[in-house]
Amino acid sequence: MNFELNKEQKQIKKAVKDFVKGEFKKDIIHELIENKAYPAKILNKASELGFLGIHFPEQYGGEALSVFEKILIAEELAIGSSTVGACVSLAGYGTEILLQYGSEKQKKIWLPKVADAEILSSCAFTEPGIGNNIELSQTTAVKDGNSWLINGRKAFAVNGGPLAGFYIVLCKTDSEAGNPEQGLSTMLVEADCQGVSAVDIGNRLGHKLLFISNIEFNNVRIPLENLIGQEHKGYSQVMEFFNHSRLVIAALSVGTAQGAFDRAFAHVKQREQFGQKLIDFQITRHKLAEMITEIENARLMTWQGALACEKGSTNTKLCSMAKLVATRTAMKVCDHALQLLGGYGYVQEYEVEGFYRDAKMSEILEGNQHVQKDVIADTITGKR
Ligand SMILES: Cc1cc2nc3c(=O)[nH]c(=O)nc-3n(C[C@H](O)[C@H](O)[C@H](O)COP(=O)(O)OP(=O)(O)OC[C@H]3O[C@@H](n4cnc5c(N)ncnc54)[C@H](O)[C@@H]3O)c2cc1C
Repeated sequence: MNFELNKEQKQIKKAVKDFVKGEFKKDIIHELIENKAYPAKILNKASELGFLGIHFPEQYGGEALSVFEKILIAEELAIGSSTVGACVSLAGYGTEILLQYGSEKQKKIWLPKVADAEILSSCAFTEPGIGNNIELSQTTAVKDGNSWLINGRKAFAVNGGPLAGFYIVLCKTDSEAGNPEQGLSTMLVEADCQGVSAVDIGNRLGHKLLFISNIEFNNVRIPLENLIGQEHKGYSQVMEFFNHSRLVIAALSVGTAQGAFDRAFAHVKQREQFGQKLIDFQITRHKLAEMITEIENARLMTWQGALACEKGSTNTKLCSMAKLVATRTAMKVCDHALQLLGGYGYVQEYEVEGFYRDAKMSEILEGNQHVQKDVIADTITGKR
């Protein structure tokens, strides 16, 4: 497996780095956080540079590149700012489901809007009572004449709220299915449909710029053609989506860890204590060595997962391993980075506190550590 980036990938990385340098100004980001304002201008500029739909085919407004380029972009963005990086990298959250299973009409209507930053896309999978066990979804979609009638409550939908264009909603379509996984379907629900309401989850630990909402579907009527892919195949579609998406979450975590590391490294090179620079203490040098080794390890696992996906066959085990390792690394490295800054680590101006708070989301979203371990164990024991 070759981990050497090709010329185009190096150019993409550089373009994102330049974009981050020009647009991710610390003061502007802190002001956005203060005002709880979505970074819409930055998203528009990312769209102009083609970062949003990089892996969409050209006919849907994309650049026809792959998940590997997508994760390279996610990592670089998160190095600049874990919170703005997540807003940009997750702007098209769930679109892989449309790409892979959607009808031509669904793809033609919705994917260009996401690539052009006209709308955000959102996934409504989990519910207040089911947590990670989305196979137990209680939200129902019932055929009624020429429509589906949708009722239920979903929780924690990233991008849910004012800028959402549509929700991909996991619904129970066969309550008689012996195995609940086989009675679920995904539906494309336009965000402005009558009966859809989104309520922000409220103040949270990190990722304060992301819209995250609880969504209610109250007698929402959508056309039959808004079913995504085959009826009753929704659960496997979502599981397949998680393979790709866990790599993006892993890449955001690698970037979060690297961003915190870079700031701590810069700090210890200039800060003097006890008559010498912090960088000259062996304990600091060893701490930095450990941190950077773990980051590189997480990056390689993430790249390995993405390269495996590129070859056409997603590798569930590698995707879960990458998420497990990268999210754990981000938590650990951010903790060490904050400690290296001492009291300054606790202050917003020095940025590490933001990385530290943001790191936690990735451990929870799309399955926590226990879930990833279950997935990995299932793959090695042949259950999956
Ligand atoms: C910031 C954020 C963004 C999110 N975005 C989305 C989104 O866009 N779309 C979406 O559908 N969902 C989203 N989620 C939901 C997320 O996937 C769920 O929070 C997650 O699935 C856990 O569900 P829960 O919060 O109900 O926790 P619970 O299921 O109540 O679990 C709580 C804890 O119990 C333990 N636990 C639970 N189940 C097990 C198990 N099987 N084995 C061992 N221990 C277990 C774990 O320690 C777990 O952390 C998001 C969540 C957050 C915090």
